Amino acid sequence: MSDPSVPFWKRKALAEMTAAEWESLCDGCGRCCLNKLEDEDTGEIFHTDVACRLLDGHTCRCRDYPNRHAIVHNCDRLTPTNVPRLKWLPKTCGYRLVAEGRDLYWWHPLVSGDRDTVHAAGVSVRGRVGLFEDAMGGEDLEDRIVSWPERIPPRAKRLPGR
Ligand code: SF4
Ligand code: SF4
Repeated sequence: MSDPSVPFWKRKALAEMTAAEWESLCDGCGRCCLNKLEDEDTGEIFHTDVACRLLDGHTCRCRDYPNRHAIVHNCDRLTPTNVPRLKWLPKTCGYRLVAEGRDLYWWHPLVSGDRDTVHAAGVSVRGRVGLFEDAMGGEDLEDRIVSWPERIPPRAKRLPGR
């Protein structure tokens, strides 16, 4: 589909997007910046409420995005190739939605025109980070497992005002 009146995320495959389009697909939720655990036997992924040390818990953005891979070595780089394979990407993630041929939700900044709607819809991690990884003492990550990063909050499914 080449109709320019159709938003780029509906007419382009991930691999066809410009760098700016690609970056704008991130809704700024911060969910992917939570530590995760994988069951070695089943491959099942569990999210925790422990955030990467570079995450800003209020803006839910990386505090050093350009240098993140030099500072946090296990920060995964998303690409058009690996997005469809990354099972831990939240159901709400803009990259995952587009890779699955789905539309973005009303609260995505590309749709709403407002970077705050991802927080208003309860999708971002704002106010929900329990710990930052550099503040962990002898705690076990398994004790920090939470299910909300895998869920879509009810108000995020409704249109605003309904
Ligand atoms: S989960 Fe997806 S949309 Fe949310 S911050 Fe991570 S890359 Fe961006
Ligand atoms: S380095 Fe930045 S982008 Fe990567 S996981 Fe940490 S906060 Fe998220």
